[in-house]
Amino acid sequence: MPRILIVGGGYAGFYTAWKLEKWLRAGEAEVTVVDPLPYMTYQPFLPEVAAGSIEPRHAVVSLRRHLKKTTVVTAAVTKVDHATKTATITPAVGDAWTMEYDQVVMTAGAVSRTFPIPGVADEAIGLKTIEEAAAIRDKLLTNFAAAANLPAGPQRDRLLTVTVVGGGFAGIEIFAELRSFASDLLKKYPTLTIDDTHFHLVEAMGRIMPEVSLETSHWVLKNLAERQATVHLDTQLKSAVGGLIELSTGESFESDLIVWTAGVMANPMVRSTDFPLEERGRITVRPDLRIVDGETVVPDAWACGDVAATPDLTGKGVGGMCVPNAQHAVRMGKQLAKNITASLRGESTTDYKHENLGAVAGLGIGTGVFQSGKIVLKGFPAWAAHRGYHGMAMPSFERKFRVVTGWWNNMWLGRDIVSLDDREKPRAAFEKFASRPKPPVAEAAPEAAPAPEIGQPAGEPGPAYANPVDDEGAKAEGDAAAKPARKAPARKRATTTTQEAPVDEKAPAADKATAE
Ligand SMILES: Cc1cc2nc3c(=O)[nH]c(=O)nc-3n(C[C@H](O)[C@H](O)[C@H](O)COP(=O)(O)OP(=O)(O)OC[C@H]3O[C@@H](n4cnc5c(N)ncnc54)[C@H](O)[C@@H]3O)c2cc1C
Repeated sequence: MPRILIVGGGYAGFYTAWKLEKWLRAGEAEVTVVDPLPYMTYQPFLPEVAAGSIEPRHAVVSLRRHLKKTTVVTAAVTKVDHATKTATITPAVGDAWTMEYDQVVMTAGAVSRTFPIPGVADEAIGLKTIEEAAAIRDKLLTNFAAAANLPAGPQRDRLLTVTVVGGGFAGIEIFAELRSFASDLLKKYPTLTIDDTHFHLVEAMGRIMPEVSLETSHWVLKNLAERQATVHLDTQLKSAVGGLIELSTGESFESDLIVWTAGVMANPMVRSTDFPLEERGRITVRPDLRIVDGETVVPDAWACGDVAATPDLTGKGVGGMCVPNAQHAVRMGKQLAKNITASLRGESTTDYKHENLGAVAGLGIGTGVFQSGKIVLKGFPAWAAHRGYHGMAMPSFERKFRVVTGWWNNMWLGRDIVSLDDREKPRAAFEKFASRPKPPVAEAAPEAAPAPEIGQPAGEPGPAYANPVDDEGAKAEGDAAAKPARKAPARKRATTTTQEAPVDEKAPAADKATAE
């Protein structure tokens, strides 16, 4: 039976596998998805996760639960050698192994792209994973709680200053969502006012959200300004060392939460394959999603989603290629499943073509923006369209139900505003009070270990053949050295200890902590 290997179970990979389950007949092929994560992430929900409107686990789709006929392997693909049709699978724990396949689908997506700006790698956080979104939410909540205890001043300002780098869709969404969340939080923090919170977005270009018209983007800027959220256009981040933001305009301020959304790039894992790449590091594919090297099709190899440079047959793509977004990745995944099925049956494949549906963004509770051609919605109707679209687009009824009921609950009960920051060190509370075995009471000071001979490690007996003449002595010395602090002299120490103080009074630090 042909073996199909799907590298990456995100949008494109998940939909390819899901639809292959639908299109393939029993016994026609066996499908394996390999991904280091056990879930597909619904990335358009990350800003709402960070803003407490969606619970983190509701925004991901378990591969094992929803891909019932597919083998799911939780590990990274670290090499693909298509010449021999083998892939190296590297799990988090255990040894790597080689997997053979007959057809391969490359859907490893994209990763955050940064520039070597001082401090960014150490201080900023990206917004590509559910863990990042959850951490941003907790950080904002923790900072509010800490700031509420402080008098006005630089320390408090830093805690209440949020900086987002990048004014694309994802950047504007997270910026606006966090602004909305922070404004909501103020109701629970009577010592803080909106003037105490500071929101800065840094964008190198002269506009935000290239996906919508300039006029619509101006409306978004105005809306943000009304909510005390500052957008710095034509501005570059120069440094973020130690959380001190320095801008190309000469402005500087301290910020405790720095979110980086200024671009993505094809997953660098593709460099560990023998597939053709274009100048931006994406795998080159034909419109039917087969990998192509110049004019030559690479047999039995497919790619789509953010990791692939796919020609946009509508003629509207940037540089003639489909832009990297979920709208394309989902549809490409579905098309790819049909095309693999067709190729296995010796039928012809179909080219991928999709007219852009437009763009919709949530900008915080009750506010959004939508544009499709000349149709523009702003404010509440756009926000309703955003929730309606994404509520429906979330794969599977089970996931839709969790997200939509979560929204419903929040509408009546409010967002959950506790920080679970401590889960970063989950054993701390247990460890603080846990009793430990008492250290063995030293019964005697060890006799001085013999000086090691050349070639003999310290503290270990010499080899049995060392010197027959000294055998007795060497053995005695060796035993003493091998088991230090246990033997005869120990009795002397024990006696002393008993006389001086009960052993318990010399309890280790952990026991003291219990007593406190
Ligand atoms: C904050 C945010 C908001 C967004 N909002 C929108 C929106 O509103 N509308 C829209 O259309 N698009 C949106 N996007 C873009 C969209 O989410 C992506 O274009 C889409 O996820 C791309 O799908 P993909 O399958 O190519 O990659 P991904 O969904 O990223 O999946 C890639 C998968 O590959 C896995 N992987 C990585 N390395 C390996 C490896 N070595 N071996 C095996 N597997 C690997 C990853 O774990 C991941 O599961 C948004 C993105 C972000 C970050």
